[in-house]
Amino acid sequence: MAIIKKREIDVLAQMNGDELERFVESLPAGKDKIEGLFDFLEMKLETNTCDHTSRFAMQFMMQNTLNFAKLSAWLSRNGGYCDCKIVSEIAEIWREVFDES
Ligand SMILES: [Zn+2]
Repeated sequence: MAIIKKREIDVLAQMNGDELERFVESLPAGKDKIEGLFDFLEMKLETNTCDHTSRFAMQFMMQNTLNFAKLSAWLSRNGGYCDCKIVSEIAEIWREVFDES
């Protein structure tokens, strides 16, 4: 039987408080940094169109000396293949979960 591996971000909405805490601890960068990345991308994409690379995400990671390899692997695993996908596939779900808690 095939095992369909769900993206972490898809199970986020079903997590309870303890699970969310473990999720946050397992992230490749601090929660505030990742939220900073989402804000940065949304701001950039208001005036720029996505060229389907992660150029703005890279810029943010460099400016904030984040673990580039780990963070971009995490983003891709969750469907964030480029700047606009990071916003539409990850940031929106993320905010629904964390903004209400
Ligand atoms: Zn894009």
